[in-house]
Amino acid sequence: MPDRRTLLRQTADLAADFLEGVDARPVRATATHEELLAAFGGPLPDRGEAAGEVVSDLAAIADPGLIASAGPRYFGFVIGGSLPSALAADWLTSAWDNNAGLYAIGPAASVAEEVAAGWLVEIFGLPAGSSVGFSTGATMASFTALAAGRHRVLDRAGWNVEEDGLQGAPEIAVVVGAEAHVTIHVSLQMLGLGRNRVFRVEADGQGRMRPDALREVLAGLRDRPVLVCAQSGNVNTGAFDPLPEIVAAVRELPNAWLHVDGAFGLWAAVSPSLRHLTTGVADADSWTTDAHKWLNVPYDSGIAIVRDAAAHHAAMTLGAAYYVETAGAERDPYNWVAESSRRARGFPIYAALRELGRDGLVAMIDRCCALARRMADGLRDAPGVTILNDVVLNQVLVRFAPPSSDGTMSDDAAIDAFTREVIAEVQREGTCWLGGTTWHGMAAMRISVSNWSTTEVDADLSVAAIRRCAKRVAEAVGV
Ligand SMILES: *Cc1c(COP(=O)(O)O)cnc(C)c1O
Repeated sequence: MPDRRTLLRQTADLAADFLEGVDARPVRATATHEELLAAFGGPLPDRGEAAGEVVSDLAAIADPGLIASAGPRYFGFVIGGSLPSALAADWLTSAWDNNAGLYAIGPAASVAEEVAAGWLVEIFGLPAGSSVGFSTGATMASFTALAAGRHRVLDRAGWNVEEDGLQGAPEIAVVVGAEAHVTIHVSLQMLGLGRNRVFRVEADGQGRMRPDALREVLAGLRDRPVLVCAQSGNVNTGAFDPLPEIVAAVRELPNAWLHVDGAFGLWAAVSPSLRHLTTGVADADSWTTDAHKWLNVPYDSGIAIVRDAAAHHAAMTLGAAYYVETAGAERDPYNWVAESSRRARGFPIYAALRELGRDGLVAMIDRCCALARRMADGLRDAPGVTILNDVVLNQVLVRFAPPSSDGTMSDDAAIDAFTREVIAEVQREGTCWLGGTTWHGMAAMRISVSNWSTTEVDADLSVAAIRRCAKRVAEAVGV
């Protein structure tokens, strides 16, 4: 038998070495695909190796292929890091290796979920008694919540979709905002509702669903079961759909369900200074959010919340005869997500919420937003820079125009190309990492501040790096 304690101690040191150095290493990966394949590859060994050697070698060969997204200057996509207690709880989750499918095979895992679920519903200000499923991410949370909606609207139309499927069912009208996240469409694809068989509602300049346009679409759908997907937190601008108007329009229909994708934006609801952005959110029927983004727990961790617990249960339960269902008040987690055996995701979420407390959670969310404003302000007066969005949350969109020698404005294509070059240069330089996006046809740099450990110093270092890179690219193009 290997000495397990020695191995785990060595592994803890490897992890601590990585995290202590995460601030100083380039944020991007340094190895190419070929280099990583060469390091990892080769034939499957015939003979096994000592566990300690496997782990230390894994740490060494993975290192140049790691992104420092756990660190404070990763601003790409919407990615959080891991709070210390959440990381440690995640290690224990692996060591315990309990199956969170059923209470009977993971009582502590089930209770951690039960308690965390209650806390989450409360801090988001959602209806008491809402049911909660702990999924792999927002994609599967939306799948889960929309499955609950699909159940309820078809049930009202006299159809049992779980038993009888969609063939021959009354046709559901699915209504989404033009800016719905791609994973909403993927959820619809998996639910048999079709990625593109949707009514798309126009959005305004910030990407918010236009309630007047929604009303026009809904006017033609009064006789049908309807699923409406709104959004709290546009992945580019951070903007929020106007929920009070959306709720009012949806509630005029006899058989409609309103889902809100708040993968990161729902966290605004915990903060007194940001809560106004989510006004009306509690009047929806279901909600998606992520814990692995803004709560800063390790991957993978999403959350589906549903007001109508019976619909949620009907859509997800396995209900197999041999499953030892609990007769009492105990929670069987498999009733609330699309998995049977699974990781006990409740532990890191529970730990993160306790480490932060209510005040700490609010402070973390507020701090990220303040840092996003600070970065926008730090870039705004740089030559050629335009901030494209209203910085209402943690997202900033930046566009860079090349300087011109004769004072004329460059055309859009030239600005697009220059913006992409600046992004590539920032990624190469390695002080921070952020990605590009296309916003209303314009290339833009996208900054997302979602990490618990990012400080003003990190924001300022990153702004300086971005400005330096923009200057360097301008000089390279020779103007
Ligand atoms: C990130 C994101 C998703 C997808 O989340 P995953 O956790 O990657 O599945 C969905 N919607 C929005 C608005 C997001 O920002």
